[in-house]
Amino acid sequence: MKTKKSDRSRATTEKTLHDLFGNVRFSMFGFFALIILYVGSYALVVITSHSDGALMLGGQPFPLRSITGVFSAIGNLCLVLLVVLYKKPGFIVSMIFLLFSFPSAITGIILNKNYISIAGIFTNALTLLAIYTIYSTNAAAEKAQARLRDQAVTDTLTGLPNRFASAELMDKLCEKGEKFAVAVLNLKNFKGVNNTLGHNAGNAVLREMASRLKKAADSGLTHTRDFVASQGGDEFLLIIRDFHDEAELNDTLKQYERAIEDRITVEGCDFFFTGSIGCAVYPTDADNIDALLACVGTAVAEVRRSDNGDHICRFTPAIANAEHALEVERKIRAALENDTLTFALQPQFDMAHRLSGFEALARMKDADGKNIEPGVFIPVAEELGLIDKIDYIVFKKAATFFGALIRETHTKAVLSVNVSVRHLMRNGFLDELREVLAASSLPPEQLEVEITESIMIDSVDKALECIREIKRMGVKIAIDDFGTGYSSLSYLNSFPADMLKVDKSFIDKMNTNDSSKQYVAAIISIGHVMNFAVISEGVEQPEQLETLRTIGCDYIQGFLWGRPMGPDAAKKLVVDDLRSA
Ligand code: C2E
Ligand code: MG
Ligand code: MG
Repeated sequence: MKTKKSDRSRATTEKTLHDLFGNVRFSMFGFFALIILYVGSYALVVITSHSDGALMLGGQPFPLRSITGVFSAIGNLCLVLLVVLYKKPGFIVSMIFLLFSFPSAITGIILNKNYISIAGIFTNALTLLAIYTIYSTNAAAEKAQARLRDQAVTDTLTGLPNRFASAELMDKLCEKGEKFAVAVLNLKNFKGVNNTLGHNAGNAVLREMASRLKKAADSGLTHTRDFVASQGGDEFLLIIRDFHDEAELNDTLKQYERAIEDRITVEGCDFFFTGSIGCAVYPTDADNIDALLACVGTAVAEVRRSDNGDHICRFTPAIANAEHALEVERKIRAALENDTLTFALQPQFDMAHRLSGFEALARMKDADGKNIEPGVFIPVAEELGLIDKIDYIVFKKAATFFGALIRETHTKAVLSVNVSVRHLMRNGFLDELREVLAASSLPPEQLEVEITESIMIDSVDKALECIREIKRMGVKIAIDDFGTGYSSLSYLNSFPADMLKVDKSFIDKMNTNDSSKQYVAAIISIGHVMNFAVISEGVEQPEQLETLRTIGCDYIQGFLWGRPMGPDAAKKLVVDDLRSA
């Protein structure tokens, strides 16, 4: 049984390559059908050529001998098709049939004086020449084609299938919906060989590693069906199929780990290598190739990063989160260090479409100038305790801009800033607020602090104390994302807020779900009973606006009337609004 498995595995890499890029194969049914058709035609040639009979067609006698040529032509066509479609086997069968036909035709001429066979011999000789020419030309073209194909799918240095071949195989497996694992294997400390002994020695190492990996794949040592490819440089890719569970997959990966760890001697120097192997499974971890390779990359990076002696990492979502958070952390720290954090202003309007204020929203770009969503960096910053710094920078920059705008235009619009729970709880927060108000000369009544509802559960008393102090300074308070938390009515009653912000999630469902509409209507009523104004966030459709109008909402913030914009656009909006007053 083992031997059988090992035999099957032995030619895995080549066989898979051949299955992927080999020529189209025609069915054996066609092969035998052509042979039967040929034999039938040949029999009819013999029968008709010996017959003196005639067929009566339309009252006219039609000698059977006259249609001998038709059957002969059909037979020869079968032979040509056999050679064209079935290559060598077709060629051999055709040659046997043709060579066999000569003696019987010659015998017919000599013994039976059947001179019609002279034409047959001549036709068969020409057919023989034709099929020989077709076969030899095709064979030469195919050889050249195979050489080109091999070059296209082979890594020249290691002789392994290349990136293109592995991508093609992954595509095919995905198309079939077959489960498979992809592992990337990087050689640790490979650069050292290149640096100390030069590129020739480095190439020798890579060739040796490639041959070890291929041997492991083709020897049947692993009990899975594996395909090894080179990704260029010191990176190899394994496509692993037919594993039953995680343990079997892990066994296979361990075989490859061992294969590269044996000593390797190059130019008289001994080297010991280890690999970083990252692995992910389709479709468990990702349902497309790009995402799967991203998972594998994450797993490889995790092996490199963690110094726990493991050389194999099986991808899990937890690793992805950790990796992602680490990446975001680097970007946040860089943005803070280089002072590249900016703000956008999203306008807020009353129901008559008059500008009432702006919400300042943090904006961050990475080194390539690509925007990173607040939904991505705010939670990481909160986790790391960097949110206070972000809040402070956004607040300071937005307040400086807005203070100048008020001095210039005398607008009555209000600037809203988001303050995180952590930031609010910090002892220095109130001092910061006073300092920024003084420096920007922003009137306190034109500043609003947005606090999310979760504050109320987290640390009620301290938060309340702080919020009352903010109110005493004349600054307004808004409760952000209202409806998503758990605030109790009695608590809300004693909360000194000025504004409730209804979360976008309710506005989204409002026109498709009647209970959501009732819920929004209830929030608005409660807000009014408690003397709060109510603003709806995330209004995108005119129908939502109409509904909000009918249920008595006071203010609107959403893409329908204004997206977050840069300071210049915000200034223009203020000026236009004042002009139209
Ligand atoms: P938020 O305070 O509830 O801000 C509203 C978010 O909804 C903003 O997303 C805004 O662009 C988006 N939005 C407004 N109208 C629409 C709409 O019609 N359709 C859609 N699809 N979205 C709309 P953004 O800028 O991505 O901010 C997300 C969250 O990040 C904010 O939610 C806030 O919780 C947080 N955040 C942003 N800036 C800061 C900041 O400076 N400090 C703190 N602590 N948090 C911030
Ligand atoms: Mg907000
Ligand atoms: Mg909100």
